[in-house]
Amino acid sequence: MNIVNKNLQQILEKYKEISTLVEVSAILHWDQNTYMPPMAAENRARQTTVIEEIVTNKWNDPTLKSLIENIDESSLSEDEKAVMRNIRRATKYYFNVPKKTILKFAETTTKSFSVWHEARAKNNFKAFRPYLSEIVSLKKEIAGYLGYDTNPYDALLDLYEPGLTSAECENVFGYLQPRITALLKNIVSSKEYKKPVSFMQKSHRYDETHQRELTTFLLNRMTYPITEGRLDVSPHPFTTTLGAHDIRITTKYHEDDLRSAFASTIHEAGHGLYELGVDAAYDHTPFAGGVSLAIHESQSRFWENQVGRSREFATFIMPVLESMFPSAFAGVTVDEWVKYVNYVKPGLIRIEADEVTYNLHIILRFEIESALINGSLDVKDVPEAWNQKMNSYLGVSPKTDAEGCLQDVHWSYGDMGYFPTYCLGTLFASQFTEHMKKDLTLNDRIAKGDLAPIREWLRKKIHVHGSRYMPEEIIHTVTGESLNPKYFIKYLEDKYRAIYSLEKV
Ligand code: MG
Repeated sequence: MNIVNKNLQQILEKYKEISTLVEVSAILHWDQNTYMPPMAAENRARQTTVIEEIVTNKWNDPTLKSLIENIDESSLSEDEKAVMRNIRRATKYYFNVPKKTILKFAETTTKSFSVWHEARAKNNFKAFRPYLSEIVSLKKEIAGYLGYDTNPYDALLDLYEPGLTSAECENVFGYLQPRITALLKNIVSSKEYKKPVSFMQKSHRYDETHQRELTTFLLNRMTYPITEGRLDVSPHPFTTTLGAHDIRITTKYHEDDLRSAFASTIHEAGHGLYELGVDAAYDHTPFAGGVSLAIHESQSRFWENQVGRSREFATFIMPVLESMFPSAFAGVTVDEWVKYVNYVKPGLIRIEADEVTYNLHIILRFEIESALINGSLDVKDVPEAWNQKMNSYLGVSPKTDAEGCLQDVHWSYGDMGYFPTYCLGTLFASQFTEHMKKDLTLNDRIAKGDLAPIREWLRKKIHVHGSRYMPEEIIHTVTGESLNPKYFIKYLEDKYRAIYSLEKV
């Protein structure tokens, strides 16, 4: 990137300080979720708050503000305009929302996280209710400050996915829901589905030492460089960027279920490879890092589902699994493993959902969140609305709020407008895959475990650009069209037709 505008150079100097502080904050967060002793929580909260306050103050620095507000955009190059676009996106929240509200929101969500945690453990929605009410009312207020055309929820969606609107979500979800429901019915009523899956019949133990060998093997295959990252353990696997050459991921090991470490390691490494692939020249600039949550999730989902859970990868990985876990895998066929890692079961918990039912969980959350923000649903009625929708979309009924509306951490953090990006990520993953197949003999590569060319395709087409282009531009450049949910439906139908020998889809 070539930045010649003097004011913009000054803005970028200040941006560098801010982005460095954000990395420091990421180190604190990473440690908190991996190795920090529990008694350190209070002190860690103080450390995090101090850094957050410094970052807020730096964004609100009058010199920076006046540099940003007075820049003459007409004289800027395309790269420079894109830098300003990202700066404006980054400052939108800080410049439009009064500091009083920002601090009130930070304070509320810090408290509400621990309240939610306890409320979930004790299945006590009433305890969380006043906090959720406060968060919803603050979110409405924030949406008002950020501005929107007709729907306040749009202002919140845009914070996570640039340009995403409720109307687009409704459109996409309206296309997905009946098709997913039809496929699901088809699957669960099939003969093949009713046959027992051998892995589920007997319990196996997968010792952690060998699971660690497996995750190291998977990272090597994916060309995830351990010199620029780490794999650690945390209750909820995540990826975090501590610096351009320090992208850390986590996984979790269950001794009785290999799928957890298998899928989460591949998933998080997919996120990590995106961050690692960004052009080094963008380090500490507004072009650094992945462009949006949905594009990020498209990378992790692609690796996890299109690669990791594919029949082709199964043919490659089975001998490896057999050598690491000989007793569990003795006599197990590729088909059985494929069925096991793709097992479809309508359930209550989003993070345990399979590829078919997952997006129904997202549609439910979108509908509840947008109704809360638009005022058509009251917080006290959330459990009932939740249970009703679970029943109508998935045919299951939560017995407790802990396995219902209290299951996700997002609302307690104040993240509303975030869930739809998970679904969009899966849709983008399928759309990218269709186009990758035109350039690569994808299935052959996967079957050979030859994953480097796949990573290279993603790097060149998507990763290297970091946040230079908006998601819409990326999807258009790579696939020649906008987001199109038909690729995902086709992928699901083809995949599950084969797994469950479905006659018609
Ligand atoms: Mg993810």
